[in-house]
Amino acid sequence: MDQSAGDRVNLLGLPRAELEAFVAARFGAKPFRARQLMKWIYRRGAADFSEMTDLAKDFRAELETGAKISVPQIVTSQISSDGTRKWMLRMDEVQGIETVFIPEPDRGTLCISSQVGCAMDCSFCATAQQGFNRNLGVAEIVGQVWLARHELAAAAARGDPSAEGRKITNIVFMGMGEPLANYRNVLPAMRIFLDDLGYDLSRRRVTLSTSGLVPQIYKLAEECNVALAVSLHAPNDELRNELVPINRKHPIRELLAACWHYIEKQNGRSVTFEYVMLDGINDRPEHARELARLLRGRPAKLNLIPFNAFPGTPYRRSADGAIIRFRDVLNEMGVIATIRRTRGDDIDAACGQLAGRVTDRLIVRLGVKLPNHGVRTEVVR
Ligand code: SAH
Repeated sequence: MDQSAGDRVNLLGLPRAELEAFVAARFGAKPFRARQLMKWIYRRGAADFSEMTDLAKDFRAELETGAKISVPQIVTSQISSDGTRKWMLRMDEVQGIETVFIPEPDRGTLCISSQVGCAMDCSFCATAQQGFNRNLGVAEIVGQVWLARHELAAAAARGDPSAEGRKITNIVFMGMGEPLANYRNVLPAMRIFLDDLGYDLSRRRVTLSTSGLVPQIYKLAEECNVALAVSLHAPNDELRNELVPINRKHPIRELLAACWHYIEKQNGRSVTFEYVMLDGINDRPEHARELARLLRGRPAKLNLIPFNAFPGTPYRRSADGAIIRFRDVLNEMGVIATIRRTRGDDIDAACGQLAGRVTDRLIVRLGVKLPNHGVRTEVVR
């Protein structure tokens, strides 16, 4: 019987229990086969069953007909002067999503997307401008990690010094999209990040960042244990309603109650509150004092993000002095605040600059062939 590729089940992103059930139902295989597969897919980065030499030949042949490991296709890859890498992955003819790798001396953070576009409509975010297209599936979320690891390893193997020894030690949902609006797919993806047969990251090294979907924060508190970051951006509802419209539905008081519940339930250390520094909008010392009154004595840290501009935005980044003053006021009032260093802004890879339009980019031609995935990078215009 002819099995077309469409009938093959994508194993990428199947949580352990589902993979075990799948190999049992489809091939009558024992659960340890699923564990072997996971090691190959995630630890060794295999995408081809023929590489899996410790699996019996017959089983590999069955896998070829009934399963596949398929990862998103890379449209472009760019490297910033500071070593930050950005990949755009094709989702359809016009839309892409972006994944960013940020190397630091002691770690490597992968910033991943959860949706094509975003429906939250935050006024200062580039992703909001493209509107919401669709949720990413589990394989498309996990596939970003798979691809980034693959690309880093390939670059290191080519002798690229900026990739040498680079590992993904942290994963943050701070790319495009609102992860809690795609809870159904984000949760199993996080399980694979945490699974010791998956990417085996500790709960402190996987961070979910949300604009403040309160009911889903309560749900997450019951179901998964990861670090929580919350995009606060304003110390009062009047201002936050303007910047983060979801605040009209879930105001600050309710949001903070959900955060403290999460920390208590998860036995966590603290919530990281993100605060974008917008010149003349939310960056005055009185804003810092108002913020400190909300957060002091609570398990909270503040991360001040200098605003990153994008075409058409009316906002400007706060002056360096204003950002430092803001931080100092918070620290003096007993709230830990740090300033996020801007990374990758020369390739539009910084926070809030991910736009994912496949069509209007100036693209670097690399055109390198990968064994399974066709052309790695192509010119779109
Ligand atoms: N939807 C999630 C993840 C989004 S992006 C969330 O809202 O948390 C990660 C962070 O970048 C968020 O805190 C977001 O508010 C911030 N951000 C968005 N646009 C920005 C911009 N132009 N400059 C700096 N930070 C921005």
